[in-house]
Amino acid sequence: MKRIVVLITIILLITANMNAQNLKGNNWIARKVDSTYIVSVADKSSVLDALTDFVIAQKIPAGQITGIGATNEATLRFFDPVTKKYMDKTFNEQMEISNLSGNISEVQGKPMLHLHVTLGRKDYTALAGHLLDAKIRGAGEFFIYPISSKVIKVKNEAVGLNFYDFEKE
Ligand code: FE
Repeated sequence: MKRIVVLITIILLITANMNAQNLKGNNWIARKVDSTYIVSVADKSSVLDALTDFVIAQKIPAGQITGIGATNEATLRFFDPVTKKYMDKTFNEQMEISNLSGNISEVQGKPMLHLHVTLGRKDYTALAGHLLDAKIRGAGEFFIYPISSKVIKVKNEAVGLNFYDFEKE
């Protein structure tokens, strides 16, 4: 009976490991478990560059990104719908990435990461907005949930932003 339990445990451990895979790329390492990726972005590297490299390397057509970590340089964008222009502002200070939420889609044949972020400052107040890019200073921990088909966004000239276009394949 004891042998059977040991054998079943070994089989379960082997099967569990078959669903997990370790990966690495430019300034990131990842573990794929079932269809979910856990991604670690390296200290002192760009979140946008690392996650874009990851998405291209893993051929992820679309999906969801969530993350936490820390940064010492983040550029936020604010979209003005009247001028249809972005105003960018860079914050050079140590901050917690208390939340990063985003999605992956395709714009003009290229992967597009749309990221928003909440940053915690030293005085515990928060900054928030559309994230252009941030440099990790400390840890950068992300979960990425891909879907199997691509989702396209097209620039809506009237508004000045990329909108989902579900008619496009
Ligand atoms: Fe945005």
